[in-house]
Amino acid sequence: MNTAHTEFDIALVRNDFPILDTEVNGRPLIYLDNGATAQKPQSVIDVIDRYYSEQNANIHRGVHQLSQLATQAYENARETIQHFLGARHSYEVLFTKGTTDGINLVASSWGRQNLNPGDEVIISTMEHHSNIVPWQMICEEKGAILKVIPIHDSGELDMAAFDSLLSDRTKMVATVHVSNSLGTINPVDEIICKAHSAGALVLLDGAQSVPHMRVNVTALDVDFYTFSGHKIFGPTGVGVLYGKEDLLNAMPPYQGGGDMIEKVTFEKTTYNTLPHKFEAGTPNIVGGIGLAAAIDYVSQFDPSSLAAHEQDLLDYATATLSEVPGVRIIGTAEKKASVISFVVDGLHPFDVGTLLDQQGIAVRTGHHCTQPLMDRYGIPGTIRASFAIYNNRSDVDVFVAALGKAVDMLA
Ligand code: PMP
Repeated sequence: MNTAHTEFDIALVRNDFPILDTEVNGRPLIYLDNGATAQKPQSVIDVIDRYYSEQNANIHRGVHQLSQLATQAYENARETIQHFLGARHSYEVLFTKGTTDGINLVASSWGRQNLNPGDEVIISTMEHHSNIVPWQMICEEKGAILKVIPIHDSGELDMAAFDSLLSDRTKMVATVHVSNSLGTINPVDEIICKAHSAGALVLLDGAQSVPHMRVNVTALDVDFYTFSGHKIFGPTGVGVLYGKEDLLNAMPPYQGGGDMIEKVTFEKTTYNTLPHKFEAGTPNIVGGIGLAAAIDYVSQFDPSSLAAHEQDLLDYATATLSEVPGVRIIGTAEKKASVISFVVDGLHPFDVGTLLDQQGIAVRTGHHCTQPLMDRYGIPGTIRASFAIYNNRSDVDVFVAALGKAVDMLA
């Protein structure tokens, strides 16, 4: 178990993550691929281990003690997430497989019921494929139209263009809260306010925001908010869709099967109440419990100390990276999370990434599942360093020195 931290102390935090002691290619691991997935603290690993060693049973079904213990732990996890997100009710928190699954749930269930020919759905140029393709699929099926908010070169949304796209035909605005490729923090308060004034709903893709900031869905007044457990120090294969009670109640089930029913006959099936109506089949029980442990882990820190730490890393990395010859940062928004994408003149991102890996540094290279965004910048991809709670300035120094070497070798 980790010891509880009374204040943010990076050395203690690093001790909580056993994988940071690993060597890669004979070098100490420098993990800067947190945007893809974050590492897990010992407390999360222990909870998963304990669940399988002492509590494993299926939930919501058995009268036996283990089943009741597992059910209790899973439903407690839902409440932990409810409080973390500031949701009014725990049944507004649906467990999913992750962000992708949450968006598909809304596009399929809400979209199939509510979109009609000529209706419009607005997304943005900087969406992850998981917030593009599900909307394309449902728009195609229902004869609805997908509109795209353009961005400025800085990687900020063109809000004037957003204003002109919004109309009484707009039924849904689905945007990313924090861009995984650019780090841009979008003005979601303004988006939600304007969309609601036009009579549209808002879905926020929170995959990259929950790891970097505290989000309160009630204060935001957002209609749907989705994120993945694995990017916030929890397990893979589990995530959350928050939805407002009245919207979720009005939506048809997404998938049919066990647990989501009230009564089944061959003639007619009636459905369970929230949240079970949207949770068919045996869920990722340990995933939900592990995600709550991850949330407990981050919740022990003062959010403003975490934000200051990440801002410091972002500022320091931006300044030192900019000194490497040929480096061009993609995404220079005024408000950014600790994510830096860049290209190096004349070099392919994969080649740079491979040389960095040989020096023990994990960064992401490629289009980051945002191909239309890469097209917007006229590049095949970027090299992306994304920071988390356990990264420090020394990681940045080692990374930038290794990048300098890689650039020299490839030049
Ligand atoms: N949206 C954003 C902004 C992301 O960064 C990601 C993951 N890279 C996703 C959606 C998809 O998340 P998942 O693969 O966990 O469903």
